Amino acid sequence: MPLQWAVRGSDHQRTLSTMEDSSSKPAKKKVVAVVGGGLVGALNACFFAKRGFDVEVFETREDIRTAKIVKGRSINLALSHRGRSALKHVGMEEKIVSQGIPMHARMIHSLTGKQSPIPYGKKGQYILSVDRANLNKELLSAAETYPNTKLNFDHKLQDWNAETGIMTFVRSDGTKANIEADLIVGCDGAFSAIRKQFLRRSRFNYSQTYIPHGYMELTMPPINGEFAMKPNYLHIWPRNKFMMIALPNLDKTFTCTLFMPFEEFEKITTGDEVITFFQTYFPDAIPLIGVDALKRDYFRLPAQAMVSVKCSPYHIGDKCVLMGDAAHAVVPFYGQGMNAGFEDCIVFDEVMNQFNEDLSAVLPEYTRVRVPDDHAIADLAMYNYVEMRAHVNSKWFLFRKHVDNILHLLMPKTIIPLYTMVTFTRTRYHEAVKRWQWQDKMINRSLLLCATGAAFGGSYLLIKNPPDISKLNINIEKLWNRFLAFGTS
Ligand SMILES: Cc1cc2nc3c(=O)[nH]c(=O)nc-3n(C[C@H](O)[C@H](O)[C@H](O)COP(=O)(O)OP(=O)(O)OC[C@H]3O[C@@H](n4cnc5c(N)ncnc54)[C@H](O)[C@@H]3O)c2cc1C
Repeated sequence: MPLQWAVRGSDHQRTLSTMEDSSSKPAKKKVVAVVGGGLVGALNACFFAKRGFDVEVFETREDIRTAKIVKGRSINLALSHRGRSALKHVGMEEKIVSQGIPMHARMIHSLTGKQSPIPYGKKGQYILSVDRANLNKELLSAAETYPNTKLNFDHKLQDWNAETGIMTFVRSDGTKANIEADLIVGCDGAFSAIRKQFLRRSRFNYSQTYIPHGYMELTMPPINGEFAMKPNYLHIWPRNKFMMIALPNLDKTFTCTLFMPFEEFEKITTGDEVITFFQTYFPDAIPLIGVDALKRDYFRLPAQAMVSVKCSPYHIGDKCVLMGDAAHAVVPFYGQGMNAGFEDCIVFDEVMNQFNEDLSAVLPEYTRVRVPDDHAIADLAMYNYVEMRAHVNSKWFLFRKHVDNILHLLMPKTIIPLYTMVTFTRTRYHEAVKRWQWQDKMINRSLLLCATGAAFGGSYLLIKNPPDISKLNINIEKLWNRFLAFGTS
């Protein structure tokens, strides 16, 4: 299949290059067009280039490595095992990890300013705070090191034809380019232009949900050249209906993200109201972010929306496949959107091995394998928002977390906490959910059995040996408080 490259301006047409198939020449490697040079697109380019395909990346933005202003979403993100495994495949893990900051636990900030850590996993397990822009730049540079890869910036996909596979790109000067490739990989994010063609086809399932909450980023500067809070934690201020989190950056700042219903954001209209709001809910953060910065930065940008997208299938014939947010945008509360997108690249690579790069078999199999997992992480991410902003305030939740961790220590193969499966293993997401539901049922039943046994046993002993009530001096309230303290310690 030839790669045709024709550029059409408003009044001219120019052919840059045309490669003809010829039976006398050795078979040419197929051409893969990766649309979107964001995190998943840039990594995917490395995967395809490593296999020897001719890879063309088309990105609507200018080259972020040389751009003065880089617009985008969150400043930093949490990288975990799945993402790291994908980076390892292309020899990038060590470099990226060395530029990240390990976060071993969540640090819960109470209203009174008390800080309590809840570890993410066993000793030595951590997630990494990485700079989004830097990661994207590193991945683009890595892709460019392959001689069979070309990066095309300022190329916005305008339309493409699912029958012919011809894509039309438009540049900022209005010129257009028509390009054909053997395989089109849609990595153009949550509002994918590639996906639009899927929507026109029969039997394509699609759902998109905006949650009623938005997010806003605020910066916590260093104090005397040092981090304003302990750096190796993901700080959380859970306030039931909303929350703030903070991730550390290499420049010793923290990026704080306030997640809140849009209507709450909109209620705050003056700098003084911002301070009153922070005094009520995040008093310990005020001196760390700074009164003036809070009053100013709250109004710098409006709160951003968060969308969850599920669709199926991920492919059209042997021509096109969706990956990353283009296939499954998830809300950010499990820190898995990018990690899942990176894992897409490994899964696709594994299926390519399995079917010897026969795209007509690879693409349907990829859909079959990957859709249930991406749908599962989309649901889990929604669930985790409630866990992060509300459940972590509950004594029962904290007690159950302790029970899960103790059982995991005693029976590491039988009981694995959900967070551990999702974050520190490559257990398929949908299997992790199934296993979690089973474990939860078993642990709750066992706890109920123990409680019932203890109640019956205690009653039996009391009936057999009734105590002399006049001599009994038990402070029930004290006991109860001790029990609760055990749950939080
Ligand atoms: C607030 C927030 C916090 C997050 N935190 C985490 C986290 O901690 N951990 C985690 O794993 N994930 C996190 N995520 C999710 C993560 O950001 C995404 O899953 C990830 O960016 C997806 O990468 P992508 O390459 O698929 O899409 P994108 O990063 O959106 O990249 C898409 C690229 O395609 C380009 N493009 C778009 N349209 C076109 C077009 N028509 N033609 C050509 N190019 C086009 C865009 O310019 C962009 O470069 C977070 C998301 C948000 C919003």
